[in-house]
Amino acid sequence: MTTSPPIGSRLVVGSYVDMAGVARAKAMPTSRLDTFVTAGAGVSPSWLVFCVDDHLAFTPSMSVVGDLRLRITTDGVRDIGNGMLWAPADLTHQDGAPSPGCPRHALRRAVSRLGTSGVTARVGHELEFTLFRAPAAAGNADDGRWAAYGLESILRQEKFVADVLVAAERAGLPVDQVHAEYGPNQFELSLGPADPVTAADRTILARTLVCAAARANGMIASFSPQPTVDGAGNGAHLHLSLWRDGSPLFSGGPGPHGLTDAGAGAIAGLISDLPDFPLVLTGSAVSHLRMRPDNWAGVHCCWGLENREAAVRLCADTAGNPAGAHIEVKPVDPAANPYLASAAVLGALSAGITRGLPPPPEVAVNPVDLTPQDRATAGVTLLSTDPPVMLDRFAGSQLAKDVFPALLREAVHRVRSHEWERYRDLPAEQSTSLLRFAWTN
Ligand code: GLU
Ligand code: MG
Repeated sequence: MTTSPPIGSRLVVGSYVDMAGVARAKAMPTSRLDTFVTAGAGVSPSWLVFCVDDHLAFTPSMSVVGDLRLRITTDGVRDIGNGMLWAPADLTHQDGAPSPGCPRHALRRAVSRLGTSGVTARVGHELEFTLFRAPAAAGNADDGRWAAYGLESILRQEKFVADVLVAAERAGLPVDQVHAEYGPNQFELSLGPADPVTAADRTILARTLVCAAARANGMIASFSPQPTVDGAGNGAHLHLSLWRDGSPLFSGGPGPHGLTDAGAGAIAGLISDLPDFPLVLTGSAVSHLRMRPDNWAGVHCCWGLENREAAVRLCADTAGNPAGAHIEVKPVDPAANPYLASAAVLGALSAGITRGLPPPPEVAVNPVDLTPQDRATAGVTLLSTDPPVMLDRFAGSQLAKDVFPALLREAVHRVRSHEWERYRDLPAEQSTSLLRFAWTN
């Protein structure tokens, strides 16, 4: 949009997603929109080490001294209703240069890195969430009746769903699909493909609109990876296609299911490097409760055509895939910072394209059904959910060093370590309940 905001808008909110995946914001009256763009809103460097519970995990390099700015751009501004505008913000120094701790900038760098191989990515995110009746203590927003993917399940929330779609249209958010998910009161919104930064921005916008519509209907939306001990987990699967000179890399080639050499290399890169990144993709203190076999959360590090238990599901180019052949990276959950998650995925794909190695054998069955022998032959491992392993893999990863500046890696490490120290060892009833609405916008 231009610098003239819609008539009647009062406030513009610029948001930043921290290392714990929590969206934080500063706001200015709409009359100061230009100032939000040129000077930004001041924030302490401690914003880099905000934890899920607002604890500040200070380090010598990230303390109370110094000043960073949240800067928005006019073309990022969207009308989110009720006189409110929203825009994704970059974390910059006072002079406007990006902070090395800015997740959005890290993703931009990962996009450029992929671009050095002449490759561009289109990304579309899925957002799963669970509705609870407000106040939260009243429990799930249901009366005990729920059918997975049920027609009644979605129709009984028709007002909420309609509110989300009206808000999405006003905000210019392209929604591909919405449905009642498997778990009670669980829904999913699928967003259309876009360049990776826009796609990540849209996850924050979409989550904001979903949460607002829930509030307007007497509910609270939980974007926790595991809102309750017994319920279904919420994923934030990332769909991604790759292109070079206008041609797709996951179809039209000589490899299995039409993979091109570069497409096969990209998948090989993902399978080889995903084990370095559970900290970034599924690193919250409740993420491990979702990351279990048979949860369709992609805990098995392998790939396969339409395999919903594989970390990398290949969706081939058929009439059933209007956006063309793509992969779905399933482990990503909604407590991940979407910019960091996409940067890690793009980093692994880029490295794989550069190496040009073939992927490991495809897994064409539910990986839990493989014999230990088959598992070893196909190189299928489980992505780690063990905190020391996740930290060590990330800290020792050359790819993580290539993709993320040292300050950002230090921040992620500190923030997730705090979260685990505080919540990982609690009984799951307690940790899921304490963190249920931590990722609600
Ligand atoms: N809810 C599952 C998850 O936690 C995903 C189900 C699906 O494949 O849509 O990732
Ligand atoms: Mg789903």
